[in-house]
Amino acid sequence: MKKYWSNRIKELEAYVPGEQPKDRRYIKLNTNENPYPPSPKAVEAMQGAIGDEMRLYPDPECSAVVEAIAQRFGIKKEQIFVGNGSDEVLAMCFPAFFDGDKPILFPDITYSFYPVYADLYQVPYETVPLSEDFTVPVDKMLQPNGGVIIANPNAPTGIALPLEAIERIAAGNLDSVVIVDEAYVDFGGESALPLINKYPNVLVVRTTSKAYSLAGLRVGWAMGNENLISALNTVKNSINSYTLDRVAIAGGAAAIADEAYFKACCDKVIATRERSIAALTELGFRCLPSSANFIFAGPSAIAADELFVKLREKGVLVRYFKKPRINGFLRISVGTDEEMNVLLAAIKGILG
Ligand SMILES: *Cc1c(COP(=O)(O)O)cnc(C)c1O
Repeated sequence: MKKYWSNRIKELEAYVPGEQPKDRRYIKLNTNENPYPPSPKAVEAMQGAIGDEMRLYPDPECSAVVEAIAQRFGIKKEQIFVGNGSDEVLAMCFPAFFDGDKPILFPDITYSFYPVYADLYQVPYETVPLSEDFTVPVDKMLQPNGGVIIANPNAPTGIALPLEAIERIAAGNLDSVVIVDEAYVDFGGESALPLINKYPNVLVVRTTSKAYSLAGLRVGWAMGNENLISALNTVKNSINSYTLDRVAIAGGAAAIADEAYFKACCDKVIATRERSIAALTELGFRCLPSSANFIFAGPSAIAADELFVKLREKGVLVRYFKKPRINGFLRISVGTDEEMNVLLAAIKGILG
């Protein structure tokens, strides 16, 4: 097998996305999707985009999305790059900013797509072990490197670094690009956005997949110095100039502009998260402090993998990572209050 495959691909271990099962209905708490529907204004805009105009290519500059982001965050259009989900934005960062000469740095426990991109683009990397309490050790992110990537809040721990720590990492790495992946920042993290006008090496990456309830649309973006944005556009226009289709451009722009709806959804998720952490703690779980829309929780009375299987049998899907240091935890996405009640009842039933 693998005849005709390039050597690079033969060796590659690809990312494995969370299950999207089709065999039955589950309470889906495994891929950090938002339990609430997208903004009605976004749905209307997407419906409006479907029609005769679909025969035309979409706007390669995604201007409507760029303008919505510029307005919402008070930055210049030249500081914004839009892509087909933040995964694509992150993938394009690798050839844009990282060479093969010095290893890039990211934590040992973080978003598992980073090492896959590094391997695909043949960028060497070194992982920095999280501290005992699962926080990112800032000092160790200052060793010589060819670039830095930090998910803040981190996944799958949910733990956030304060802005002041991110600033130390930015200031200590002025010769390399520091990417801050803020997929979960809207659920309680502190954004590094204020740093982009001060540090030419900081790139903040966001997505509409989590806080904007649009995982199905695939809209992500990066914010940073014009020079970094230019490099990303050079990569994009060397692969695919039309990364966002007409529906995604219309829906993404409307969702980002509807700040009130977005905020109400985030507030609900945060309230449910706090209530669920309290209930899980009561049931003997060790819950890491979460600034995200998921809870990283380690059961005390049962092995995590066993609980994962038993919850699945009861129709509740969560995520289990069979990896050293975190194999005693489950990552549980925050659903609606009703969904979390089903989860908690199922756990009580399993624990007896
Ligand atoms: C979900 C997630 C992403 C990917 O988001 P998309 O925009 O859906 O591609 C990126 N980074 C982290 C840490 C995530 O958890």
